Amino acid sequence: MATQSTHTFKAEVKQLLYILAHSLYKERDIFLRELISNASDALTRMQFEMLTNREALDPDAELAIHLETPETTGDEPKKLVIKDSGIGMTRAEMETNLGTIAQSGARAFIEKIGAGQLDPSDVIGQFGVGFYSVFMVADEVRVVSRSYYLDGEAWAWISDGGENFTIEPADKTDRGTEIHITLKKDAAEFAQAWKLKQVIKKHSDFVRFPIYVGTERANQQTSLWRKNPSEVSTDDYKQFYQQLTLDFQEPLATIHFSSDAPVNVRALLFIPAQREKNILAARKEPGLLLYSHNVLIQEYCADLLPKWLGFVDGVVDSEDLPLNVSRETVQNNRVMRQLGETLRKRVLRELKNISDSDAEKYEKFWNEYSRAFREAIATDMDAKDQVLPLFRYMSSTSDGKLISLDEYIKGMGEEQTEIYYVLGDDLKSVAHSPHLDPFRARDIQVLYWVDPLDALIAPMLNEYQDKKFRNIDDAELELPQEKEETTPDQEQTPEYDFNILLGRFTSVLGERVLDVRASKVLKDSPIRLVSPKDDMERERQRLSRYFDKEYKVPKKILEVNRNHPLIANLARALHAHPDSEFAKLTIEQLYDSALVQEGLHPNPAEMLPRIEKLLELAAEKE
Ligand code: ADP
Repeated sequence: MATQSTHTFKAEVKQLLYILAHSLYKERDIFLRELISNASDALTRMQFEMLTNREALDPDAELAIHLETPETTGDEPKKLVIKDSGIGMTRAEMETNLGTIAQSGARAFIEKIGAGQLDPSDVIGQFGVGFYSVFMVADEVRVVSRSYYLDGEAWAWISDGGENFTIEPADKTDRGTEIHITLKKDAAEFAQAWKLKQVIKKHSDFVRFPIYVGTERANQQTSLWRKNPSEVSTDDYKQFYQQLTLDFQEPLATIHFSSDAPVNVRALLFIPAQREKNILAARKEPGLLLYSHNVLIQEYCADLLPKWLGFVDGVVDSEDLPLNVSRETVQNNRVMRQLGETLRKRVLRELKNISDSDAEKYEKFWNEYSRAFREAIATDMDAKDQVLPLFRYMSSTSDGKLISLDEYIKGMGEEQTEIYYVLGDDLKSVAHSPHLDPFRARDIQVLYWVDPLDALIAPMLNEYQDKKFRNIDDAELELPQEKEETTPDQEQTPEYDFNILLGRFTSVLGERVLDVRASKVLKDSPIRLVSPKDDMERERQRLSRYFDKEYKVPKKILEVNRNHPLIANLARALHAHPDSEFAKLTIEQLYDSALVQEGLHPNPAEMLPRIEKLLELAAEKE
């Protein structure tokens, strides 16, 4: 027999209720947004259920939200009732949903407030604190609900925001949920129709179902994406985006379009300002809201855009999709493929437009999302031609600015036929790469590829605009003549001593190098490590340093710069002391430094004892 029962709130909920009831809030309005949003969710779920199941209570009831302010007299507390004809709750659902589970927004809110990081009154508006926010304005709340099941019963959930809540049988014959709020004295304004309409306009204008205050419709209830873009204001977009995502930063881009061929589509898409989702984000998973004829058919549709464009948020609506689609048909549907193709093109076109018209904005975008584009190349063969024009790089001559591959090609001299890049761990180290010496001498631009994924995608890129990509650590690179051959002003190392030195390099480094030889191109660097011609493994080797436990340092060819003062001194030291410990340690150190420079050293900290020893020897000579 169904009877009354009393329950204790879950600990986090208790905490949340305490904070909500005891703080002074500037933004109490948002409780209404939260309750309306819950009602709207319940209506959406009902609509969704009825796509396939007409065996529901009141199948023809209007899907709507009603706000009522019952008459009160004298000192009697003011009242507000929020009603929806949504999916409703059973007794068990009430017990768990409204008491024993803490919703994620609520938990995050408590964590922030609890840690003293935030003043609740400043931030509450940005949190999806949900149902419990009603206790900012309520002395008592009575939720009466009847689930859509035909044989359901109505139940009431009652609480004054204290430790406990009560559940008891109730009288309600129609489907849905009613929230009866006994307003606090200082919240009496929420029993006034004008106030309610004002708050709805501000926070809930784009809710898809009609919201009535009394008999009057209070929201526009337009599906913004179905409007003509010329009729939508910037502010509308902003509000819509915030209501959709709870992201209060303005999106980087808003893409609104409609089209009838090859497929009917209306879409309103956003690129959020940040890739990383805020913990309070309303939309937790990647994917778009998918509507057909203005009815939501999938909440997170990840099949429309390729995975690497998963950061795009928004709404897609198509009249060409059948209403009663199942998950499988959505996945294997011709219309879906066409929709996906159209959306992908539009997003990329918009990015191209931004990159052409607003360099600063594009740079922001690129810094935030470039990873996704590298993933695109790595995972999606078809994407390459579409996304490569959108790539941006720093380069040896770009002065800290990002450039595109097209700009690179435009800047190429007549004799240059390839696109040069250098791989490295970060911009600072790559700027000092010895491989750049001959390019600086010839004034040839080299792209800096410093994202770990660059090494992964390098072998897949091959060419752009008929120009091959070329890693400049290549031993056999053929470069045009230097503009003005400069004779070094340092004294060259005598040939005999230099050969002895090369021999010493070989004997000290042994198997660790493939060859030791004089460099024809180095200018400012004493040595460098180059890859044998057509070494297909070098990029993979860099990656394996990140991923393999048993990483082995790859063998390279060591080139020595005969004109470098350090090399000259070293040769001199060897000449004087053929067994010089100092020379041996210096060779080891030069080799290790070159590995660090290349991003190939397994553990740079290992060098420290040797560096100390070298300093000690140097200090002795002072
Ligand atoms: P959230 O909406 O973030 O899930 P809430 O605390 O607002 O968290 O609501 C908790 C749960 O209670 C909801 O997930 C839903 O299952 C249920 N609920 C709240 N309001 C309604 C309603 N009007 N109709 C049906 N279920 C509701």
